[in-house]
Amino acid sequence: MQALRTLLTVHAHPDDEASKGAATVAKYHADGVHTVLVCCTGGEEGDLQNPSLREPGQPFHGLTPDQEKAKLASLRPLELAESARIIGFDEVVMLGYRDSGMPDTEANSHPDSFHQADIDEATGRLVAVVRRTRPQVILTYGDDQRGYPHPDHLRVHDVSVLAFERSGDPDWYPDLGEPFQPSKLYYSTWSKARLLAVHEALIAKNGSSPYDENWLDRPDNDHRITTRIDVSAFQAARSGSLRAHATQIDPNEPWWFGLDDDELNAVWPWEDWVLARSLVGPIPGPRGETDLFDGIGSASDASAPEFERVGRQSATEAARGARLRGRETP
Ligand SMILES: [Zn+2]
Repeated sequence: MQALRTLLTVHAHPDDEASKGAATVAKYHADGVHTVLVCCTGGEEGDLQNPSLREPGQPFHGLTPDQEKAKLASLRPLELAESARIIGFDEVVMLGYRDSGMPDTEANSHPDSFHQADIDEATGRLVAVVRRTRPQVILTYGDDQRGYPHPDHLRVHDVSVLAFERSGDPDWYPDLGEPFQPSKLYYSTWSKARLLAVHEALIAKNGSSPYDENWLDRPDNDHRITTRIDVSAFQAARSGSLRAHATQIDPNEPWWFGLDDDELNAVWPWEDWVLARSLVGPIPGPRGETDLFDGIGSASDASAPEFERVGRQSATEAARGARLRGRETP
């Protein structure tokens, strides 16, 4: 019997799960993988991004700014639940922190914000989820966030890497569940080749594209991409979950919806990932991998030496091994 395969993704705000890797998660859910979403904050600092909802007959018509904020706070959990249903998450766990807001705003200093949280305490919350759900694969944000340095996104990266290292270590958080060592840690990434392909397709279709020079001139990090997942049958998970966040995403925004699912498939039917740590084999070269669960065996393999060694050695050693073996691409 095959062991239950579990995929855990860590995100900062409701709607990040829709814009980063939704189709990949949908694909694995359809393939029988148990899928867990950890959302670190409630997105309390988000504004209404869809102005059509202020028109007569729409839910935000005639509201004061304070009423609008209260309405948003009541709607965002519902939007997240619908997005998670569309993508196919089996479980949604709120880590319970407050949205820290954009860089250098007042919300950064709110005592309940993710940004202000003690890093060991925040990591412990994630470790508890990892130990309970036992994911072989964790998806998180990368180490290079110069393009969008949101304090909560930076924190997601830091806490995820520490949780990957500490979940298997019995010396860390002894009261937060039986130690469990995940096997692989991936970073989501944007691909310049994808950006250019979409940009050119939009110009061919509409004569214009929302990607300006700031985007087109961003440094190319495509050499870091180790893993390309064919999501051509699951693009509707991306577009559908984005639309579920109706207060955050304008359904007429060409940035998100300039190409429909079929048009996107014609130019870029993939989602790209960076394998940052692996305990089950070497890090593949550029685009050398097409399956997040490559190297992760069935239940019978779980007693094979590679797993046993990880299980028996002190988890600190395992974490050290993870650092050494998991070549982090520059
Ligand atoms: Zn976010």
